[in-house]
Amino acid sequence: MRDPKSSQAIARKRKRAGNEHMRSIEVELYRSVALSACEAISPEASLLKCIEQICRLMDWQVGHIYLPSQKRDALASGSLWYLADPIRFGPYQEYTESLVISSGVGLVGAVFATGQAHWIADASKDPSFLRARQAREVGLRSAFAFPIRTCKDTLGVMEFFTTRHVEAEPALFQTMNDVAKLLGKVYKRKRLEFDVMMKASSSDPLTHLPNRAMFSSRLHEAIVRGRRSGAPGAVMIMDLDRFKVINETLGHEAGDRLLRAVADRLLPFGGQYDHLARLAGDEFTILVPELTGTQTAAQVAEAVHELFEQPFSLDGHSIYLSVSIGGSLFPTDGEDTATLMKHASIALDQVKKDQGKIQFYQHSMQTPTSDRLILEHHLRQALDGDELVLHYQPQVCLRSGSIVGAEVLVRWQHPDMGLIPPGKFIPLAEETGLIMPMTEQILKKACEQGRRWQEEGLMPIRLGVNLSGIHFKRNGLDESILETLDETGFPAELLELELTEGIMMENVEATITTLKKLNAHGIQFAVDDFGTGYSSLSYLKRFPLSVLKIDQSFVRDIAGDPEDRAIVSAIIALAHRLHLKVIAEGVETEEQLRFLQGLGCDYAQGYYFSRPVDSSHFRPMLASERIIPLGMTALIGAGA
Ligand code: C2E
Ligand code: CA
Ligand code: CA
Repeated sequence: MRDPKSSQAIARKRKRAGNEHMRSIEVELYRSVALSACEAISPEASLLKCIEQICRLMDWQVGHIYLPSQKRDALASGSLWYLADPIRFGPYQEYTESLVISSGVGLVGAVFATGQAHWIADASKDPSFLRARQAREVGLRSAFAFPIRTCKDTLGVMEFFTTRHVEAEPALFQTMNDVAKLLGKVYKRKRLEFDVMMKASSSDPLTHLPNRAMFSSRLHEAIVRGRRSGAPGAVMIMDLDRFKVINETLGHEAGDRLLRAVADRLLPFGGQYDHLARLAGDEFTILVPELTGTQTAAQVAEAVHELFEQPFSLDGHSIYLSVSIGGSLFPTDGEDTATLMKHASIALDQVKKDQGKIQFYQHSMQTPTSDRLILEHHLRQALDGDELVLHYQPQVCLRSGSIVGAEVLVRWQHPDMGLIPPGKFIPLAEETGLIMPMTEQILKKACEQGRRWQEEGLMPIRLGVNLSGIHFKRNGLDESILETLDETGFPAELLELELTEGIMMENVEATITTLKKLNAHGIQFAVDDFGTGYSSLSYLKRFPLSVLKIDQSFVRDIAGDPEDRAIVSAIIALAHRLHLKVIAEGVETEEQLRFLQGLGCDYAQGYYFSRPVDSSHFRPMLASERIIPLGMTALIGAGA
């Protein structure tokens, strides 16, 4: 039998060793939390980094965070997880994410309500633990949850699980308490910085009015609401007359101050819901979401005009400004933001031409010019004469460096004018309806080409084909796509159709039905130009999507602009939460590539790897099955 004194000594020694171990972990945790505070780009990224660090240091296999609902009466599973073994613990994650937990209920609910950490030695057997069965199924045992706190609030609850049976240790509670306090501070600061940044990216820095992107989003919401309520609305673009002269004579600094004064004067038209914006230069825009009672759009425009009857005062001088206004009405002049803005802008051109002051859009303003008629005629010939050629731009996996897909980009090989880029003829094709047969032709050519490459034994890759909005306004898209796949024998799983947010938001229900039908055959869908349209990712969740393409405008300055970096980081985190893969578009430099890799982006596409090239140039890239040493050598130089 062991002498009781020596067993006490052993216990003391053990305790000391345990405490020392905890202390070293604490130091390490503190260091990594502080570090992630400096390095992480978004608040979410700082949390994720901490969860990972804690799991690694404590040897816990699952870590995760719950965040409160807006009303703070419930907790929803956050998007941020660490899973030591994603396949094994994936089902547990999935189940957890499906739960919303009321404050006070279960392990995390109790932690949230009391602000106290909580330990369960064996969660798989504890009846008070709501997910006991699911924990048992994947072999998770001990559970530990603690609040992330500031002095006033509980910001969220972190929970950790291990496959071992571990008893609660007071030293651990103390350590985690200290870490949680630090984390609370870090998270709160990051959240603030991030909100300020998001606000900055939706407003115009000069006047602090919403910018174009924000305005488009407001206009879109108004159109959708108007569709439901049946009330018409209007959008008006205002352009200051002769502002250029003022700018040149008084200087740009004075010009800027004058623009700010104009913005202030227009403010009453902004309402509380950001219905006023500065588009660019001396162009402002006003949204009248609902024309009620006897109020007409023309009366609103008159009222704006009257605002300019009084002079502006600048450095003691009185300056008279006048304004031209062009407007369009919804739903009569258009039912989507792009059409309404285009028509308001055509009306504005007309006012300027006529030297009038207010003009609303009229259909007759858009009589086709003879140039357009000629181009349309040529475009029809192009379709009949097989003048459309397809270029392919590789999409590269940022982990393995291999080509996983290609975007198909159409060009018009004109017999006299040479190679015409899509921007020059797609809009016309859309307006004239020629886009329908054109897309059928593009799809068919792409599928035939894909099939040929497969027959030659080349690496099978996804082909991304762009769709226009028009397709969803007319019937028969789904049949024609399925027929094409059938005829060409190209596998549906390898066809990825790209749609912009605008297209998806326009006719939501019909689009969802069509996409689901095609998706049931294996066809994949990508959101194109993501980030430019202001729709929320959670909304897009209703569509059967598999890929999200981050618009080039965010990638361009990713190395130099922390705001863009934060946005891209948040987009990637959210996309992954929705099980979407992310492609970054427009990658031109190694530096951009490095940042994207660092942010966990899945794929990239851009001149850095290769410009879009015709099939004869694309084939060797596929044939070599070359793994691109990322950041070392691009496939084809940017000048190719
Ligand atoms: P998109 O779908 O956003 O296509 C990407 C555009 O970015 C392509 O322009 C591509 O050449 C360009 N790009 C790729 N990498 C880089 C880069 O690193 N830097 C820069 N600055 N640009 C890069 P492209 O080929 O001129 O096509 C323009 C747009 O025309 C496309 O934008 C798409 O909206 C439309 N389009 C092209 N092909 C089709 C088509 O077959 N059907 C339809 N409906 N639209 C098409
Ligand atoms: Ca595209
Ligand atoms: Ca794009």
